[in-house]
Amino acid sequence: MNLDEIKNKALENHIPIIMDDTLEVIEKVMINNKPKKILEIGTAVGYSALCFSKFLENGGKIDTIERDEERIKEAKENIKIVEDGKQINILEGDAVEILPTLSDKYDMIFIDAAKGKYPFFLEQALRLLNENGIIFADNILYKGYVMSDYNKHKQRTAVTHLREYIKLTTENPELETEILEVGDGLAITKKK
Ligand code: SAH
Ligand code: MG
Repeated sequence: MNLDEIKNKALENHIPIIMDDTLEVIEKVMINNKPKKILEIGTAVGYSALCFSKFLENGGKIDTIERDEERIKEAKENIKIVEDGKQINILEGDAVEILPTLSDKYDMIFIDAAKGKYPFFLEQALRLLNENGIIFADNILYKGYVMSDYNKHKQRTAVTHLREYIKLTTENPELETEILEVGDGLAITKKK
């Protein structure tokens, strides 16, 4: 399958792949920052990883974590279309267990998995981020729930943790964070 077919199949199967306007923002940053090593938390079927790989330098690599076996199987098939000279590695398992075992540094980290784990993912991402690296967190506004005072929703645990993520990234004097209303909300964090 080519990238469009992978995208359309994912949409048909209701897999929450990255939205076009979110992708556009990240691609612009990648053109400027030229990341060579990327970490992604939440592979799904490999669509976002394949999109990012287009903007990777030759010799660059993406490590991407996924725990769902069916999706891993599909992602492995899909990432075969990655261009020569670029690498996508799927790390299989729960990111909560895998992240603490990593020690390589990354130029870009894309957080796009269990919303309730965002504060933990942030802590690990900050540890694994290069000096000039950048962290993106997708779905940070979660359908608008995060910025509204509506807190009786059944997803309130996720909302609480997403609010915590925003607080941690915006109130830390060593970090610079922008929250964009693209897609389902995108947080962009850099070290000052
Ligand atoms: N980044 C993908 C979409 C990811 S959807 C894209 O834009 O194309 C989120 C994925 O994260 C799901 O496939 C889900 O199985 C996975 N996930 C959620 N919590 C996880 C965890 N704790 N560890 C590993 N994978 C997780
Ligand atoms: Mg997402």
